[in-house]
Amino acid sequence: MSNKEILSVSEGEILDIEIEEDLLKANRELASANRKILDSCNVKSINVMGSIGSGKTSIIQWLIKELKNKYRIAVIAGDVTTDIDAERVREAGAKSIQINTGRGCHLDALMIRKAVKKLDLKQIDLLFIENVGNLICPADFPLGTHINMVVVSVTEGPYMIIKHPFIVKEANVVVINKIDLADQMEVEIDKLVDDAKKINPLTKTVATSVKENMGLKSLINALEL
Ligand code: MG
Ligand code: ZN
Repeated sequence: MSNKEILSVSEGEILDIEIEEDLLKANRELASANRKILDSCNVKSINVMGSIGSGKTSIIQWLIKELKNKYRIAVIAGDVTTDIDAERVREAGAKSIQINTGRGCHLDALMIRKAVKKLDLKQIDLLFIENVGNLICPADFPLGTHINMVVVSVTEGPYMIIKHPFIVKEANVVVINKIDLADQMEVEIDKLVDDAKKINPLTKTVATSVKENMGLKSLINALEL
C-alpha cells in the first residue's frame, strides 16, 4: 500500500486512507493483545502466509505429523469459503478451528482473538494460523503471532519473492517449497534465496519438498521448534 500515490488522486481518497490507517492501528493494538494472551498461556504461534496452492496446509500437516508427540498442536485455518484445510489438519492430528472470511482476503487480529477464545489455550503448546491464500494484504495485518512464515513454491515461477517485498519484510522464515519441481520449472532456488535476503537480510530461508520429504529438519530448526 503506497499512501503517497493514493493521496495525490483526490480529496475523496484521503478520507479512505484515514479510515484505513485507523483500521491498521486498531489491528496492531489487537495483535499485541493477542500476543499477551498467547504468552500468558505459553502458546507459541506461527502465522503461515502464502498464495493458494503454495503448500501452506501440506507444510502444516507435515510439521504436525513430525511434532505431535512433542507439542500439543492446534490450527486456526483461514479460508474464503471452504473447510478443506481445517479437515486436513484434523486428520494429521491437531485440533482445528475454521474461520471463513467470505470476501475477506486476509485474516485480522480480531478474527484471531475470537478464534482463540474457542481454544483451551492451557491445553495447547503450538498454534499454527493458516492465513488466507494471498501474499499482499496479510503483510499489513499482523495477528500477534511469534513467527511469520511465508511459503512460496517454485511452481509459482521465479518472481514470487521480488514481487511481494512487503510480506517478505515481515517474514521471519521464508519457505521455498516444491523444490523437487525446480528443474522442471526452470527456477533457481539460490536466486529465490538471494531475493529474500536482499529484501530482508534477517529472514531465514528453507528449501522444502513435502512430497519428497526434503527440508523438514531445517524447517523445524528455522522455526526453533
Ligand atoms: Mg491451505
Ligand atoms: Zn486482504
